[in-house]
Amino acid sequence: MERRGFLKSLAGAGLGLGMLPAWGAATPAQAADADAWRAVVMDVDACTGCGACVRACHERTAARVPRPVSPIPVSRWGRDRRSDWWERRQLTDRLTPYNWLYLQTCTVQTARGERQVFMPRRCLQCLNPPCVSLCPLGAARQRVTGAVYTETSLCFGDGQCVAVCPWHIPRLQSGVGPYLHLAPGYLGYGQTFKCDFCEDIIAGDRPPLCVAACPHQAQHFGPYREMVALARQMADERRGDLFGLRENGGTCLIYVSSIPFRDIEAALLRQGLISPGRPSLRPVGASLERENRLVGTVLAAPLAGAALAGLRLLRDHWSEKHED
Ligand code: SF4
Ligand code: SF4
Ligand code: SF4
Repeated sequence: MERRGFLKSLAGAGLGLGMLPAWGAATPAQAADADAWRAVVMDVDACTGCGACVRACHERTAARVPRPVSPIPVSRWGRDRRSDWWERRQLTDRLTPYNWLYLQTCTVQTARGERQVFMPRRCLQCLNPPCVSLCPLGAARQRVTGAVYTETSLCFGDGQCVAVCPWHIPRLQSGVGPYLHLAPGYLGYGQTFKCDFCEDIIAGDRPPLCVAACPHQAQHFGPYREMVALARQMADERRGDLFGLRENGGTCLIYVSSIPFRDIEAALLRQGLISPGRPSLRPVGASLERENRLVGTVLAAPLAGAALAGLRLLRDHWSEKHED
């Protein structure tokens, strides 16, 4: 996208100097009627790890995550934060900009012996998403359905969404996006990518591609309240555990498992299976504290907007002079 397109997007988003998103304001799903919310119940006991959902999601990422420029611009100040997954775009053993759904697999010791657990992991689609509230350019957005997505024409990969996400879900790809046309090396590092809950598909009340592809009915899609009731019923029937009803204020992805999630988390930790792109299942209190610390950063966000706008004026002035 050219600079002009980026700035048009800013204008269309109602953003500009002094008009950046307000921290603490209700996000679209919070402001909407809960009847509009959609959710997925993920039945961990039914998942066989066949990978059909991962393959279905790849169709989506292939159409949405571009090839980076070569060479990728080097950061001119601070730490070099470039991140390039293009050569590793076929990797499916973790979340990457090119892999939005990952099968987290571990062996758990139960009273009946060892069991292999498969947990499809992706953005949990928080109902009160800090990535949306704290994105300095308003690039992280939410639909009334609860789908959290990225307006890629606005994202310049500063990584705020990664920092504030309790599970560090978004993944950075450098060498793509509008920063290339603004001040590559000075402002931004690329774009962050993650599962968008197939936001356009679920807006028509159709299930996300990964849910539709599951041949073992391990995933269920529907109105949020119905999915919460279903998850509770499934958990009651098998005296199981739930993850997603309370986490980070509630998410649109709700996991049900007969094995407690704290046991799965412990097994993942013991087996060294939690690392960047391989998210934990930890409670999110710690991340909310971090979010509070980040308020200072967000209050400084208008400065980022001012810097971008100032830069645009300078560069437009420079190009006009040279076009004359
Ligand atoms: S899981 Fe992380 S990236 Fe996804 S909506 Fe929640 S805070 Fe945002
Ligand atoms: S909801 Fe859509 S984008 Fe998200 S993991 Fe499933 S197929 Fe991929
Ligand atoms: S398609 Fe269904 S059974 Fe297969 S890995 Fe995905 S959720 Fe599990």
